[in-house]
Amino acid sequence: MKIAIISRNASLYSTKRLVEAGRSRGHVVRVLDPLRCYMRISCGQFEMHYKGSVLEGFDAVIPRIGSSVTFYGTAVLRQFEMMGVYTPNSSDAVLRARDKLRSLQMLAREGIDLPITVFGDYPDDTADLLQMLGDPPHVIKLNEGAQGQGVLLAEKRSSSQGMIEAFRGLYANFVVQEFIGEAGGGDLRCFVVGGEVAAAMHRQAPEGDFRANLHRGGKASCVELTEQEKTVALRAAAIMGLGVAGVDLLRSKRGPLVLEVNASPGLEGIEEATGLDIAGIIMAQVEAGAGGTPLT
Ligand code: ADP
Ligand code: MG
Repeated sequence: MKIAIISRNASLYSTKRLVEAGRSRGHVVRVLDPLRCYMRISCGQFEMHYKGSVLEGFDAVIPRIGSSVTFYGTAVLRQFEMMGVYTPNSSDAVLRARDKLRSLQMLAREGIDLPITVFGDYPDDTADLLQMLGDPPHVIKLNEGAQGQGVLLAEKRSSSQGMIEAFRGLYANFVVQEFIGEAGGGDLRCFVVGGEVAAAMHRQAPEGDFRANLHRGGKASCVELTEQEKTVALRAAAIMGLGVAGVDLLRSKRGPLVLEVNASPGLEGIEEATGLDIAGIIMAQVEAGAGGTPLT
């Protein structure tokens, strides 16, 4: 098959691993910088060029779209979809997953448990908004943040108020959540590929932090998920419509809570922690989805 990987940087671990996995399975794999893809749309016709030449003949595309290029990157992905190219994660699903508020609304509707979350716009309503949430500590997070950036802990109601005012002053969208203290600064990253949990790891925040993101210095280790945790992870990925997803769970007193569903989960931490060939597992799913067989 001919496979495109949409990624801004071919030297990123995840991108490199996907290229390796695809080529070793006999595919032609090309990394495309989404910002260098440009497109022509006309009645019933979709065309794309890359650095002056035409892009055609692709069987599958794997999006690895960073949060800084969500809009343009998903437009490129959508153009591929219009051209009939298979993707495990559709542009709509990627866009849904990027919006924390929208994701939580969709998950809660389907009966997925999550940290209680509030969201509001008008400054005069902040006191009542926090009343709706309950006692602090609270977690305040940017709606489109990633890798733990823009995720803050407020121990007191006055700090919640102050942080909310600061975010509002910057015109940033944010949600406020109950803090799940019993998670102890740890979370679970469940790596879902094609309706199965391909791998899972426990991530522990560094001393003095509550964010378990590996980019924030979290430490990863192997973990055995319970059946309930597996079911929740699979359902969350399915509700978001993602074929490849990193579902983050917190272990709480009332059971597993979904924090978020990532559409471009990193491969480095999970492959290191588990020793599994996740890139190969993703490629196998793409082969099955695109209905193609390796070229070799
Ligand atoms: P990001 O998109 O930046 O990764 P997350 O919502 O996943 O944002 O939060 C980052 C990390 O912060 C999580 O992995 C978890 O360790 C911690 N965290 C987030 N929300 C809560 C919460 N409500 N209670 C306890 N810890 C939380
Ligand atoms: Mg996260």
